[in-house]
Amino acid sequence: MPTYLIHYSSEIGLKGHNRRDFINQLRRNIRRQHPAVTSVEHLMGRLVAESPKAEDFGDVFGVAWWAKARALPAEMGAINAAAVEAARKLAAPGKTFAIRPRRADKRFPLNSQGIGRDVGAAVVEATGMGVDLTSPDIEIFVEIAPGTAFVFAERHSGPNGFPVGMSGKLLGLYSGGIDSMLAAYLMARRGARIALVHFHVFESAAEAHAQKVGKLAAKLGRNIPGLKVHYLPYRPYHRRAADIVRRYQAYRVVAFRRFMARTAAALAQQEHAKALFSGDSLGQVASQTLENMLAVNDALAGFPIFRPLIGWTKQEIIDWGEGLGFYDLAKQPYRDGCALLAKKPSTRANLARVAEMEALLDIPSLIEETLAQIETIHY
Ligand code: ATP
Ligand code: MG
Repeated sequence: MPTYLIHYSSEIGLKGHNRRDFINQLRRNIRRQHPAVTSVEHLMGRLVAESPKAEDFGDVFGVAWWAKARALPAEMGAINAAAVEAARKLAAPGKTFAIRPRRADKRFPLNSQGIGRDVGAAVVEATGMGVDLTSPDIEIFVEIAPGTAFVFAERHSGPNGFPVGMSGKLLGLYSGGIDSMLAAYLMARRGARIALVHFHVFESAAEAHAQKVGKLAAKLGRNIPGLKVHYLPYRPYHRRAADIVRRYQAYRVVAFRRFMARTAAALAQQEHAKALFSGDSLGQVASQTLENMLAVNDALAGFPIFRPLIGWTKQEIIDWGEGLGFYDLAKQPYRDGCALLAKKPSTRANLARVAEMEALLDIPSLIEETLAQIETIHY
């Protein structure tokens, strides 16, 4: 059965007495996200997983890098033979190689240098390739753990961070756009458990779920174990606000943003989420000026909201989204509530005027009416 060597992030490695909790959570998440995996063992600072399937552990937060490896008895004859076999597959005239040894078990008779020399000599003899330790075409990695050696030629980088489940629970305001999607990814990568809340303009959650909002959530769900999206209708607010907003044109966006945040905070409390987060980035659009974001904070009356993208440029957000393979989906058009409202919003909310409008709307009863129509989908 194929063996996978998985190294956890150096941040996990720096943990003290609770390192084992992080590693155990990582092991649980690996199994949850990769159900074909039959075992994940901790072996002196690395994890060793077995799975009959071709696996890609690049979607598990907390993984620094992983490799499909040959697991062998820790003795030089077997190691040399496996390294030669790996090198032969990649060898070509004129190519150079390097052996990258790592000795975790200090009782092993050869030190790293000695292992490198010994394996290197075997590969030179078998393939005729030259050694280049600075910029080789091929790298063969050898890791010695107690009793077992691992040989592999390809390392894949992981997302780093902490395993989901280690940092409490957060509720994210999720629009189906790239910003809030990336915000969720980043908070999960710090180990938070994530639920999302999405306000939609449709008759049912199923309609929103069938569109890019649901497709993106499903993609996110592969990285975030336990992800769920609470769908809330925008209709109750829209119905009640239709007349009132005419008199408060400039504040309609800010008022709706405040409403979404307050509703989300009420939901967060029900769900035992300790804070909200959003995809805001300072100044990106009219609703994200400092004044307007503070107007949203004001509506939350002290309930915390994080904005992980606050200092990011749009281009950085897009580059990340593309790198993660999310952007093509995220940029697809979508009918969202905010777009319906967004005609020349004020960039500096006058809180007294907003409060006046909110009193007419009777926000607490609107929150109750909206939450009564919640539909939750697990991804
Ligand atoms: P995004 O790319 O996430 O859509 P955006 O740049 O388009 O962000 P806005 O539409 O102004 O910006 O939304 C800012 C933030 O408000 C979003 O990142 C998200 O956190 C929240 N938000 C916007 N629309 C919704 C919605 N329909 N439901 C829930 N949250 C939303
Ligand atoms: Mg948007």
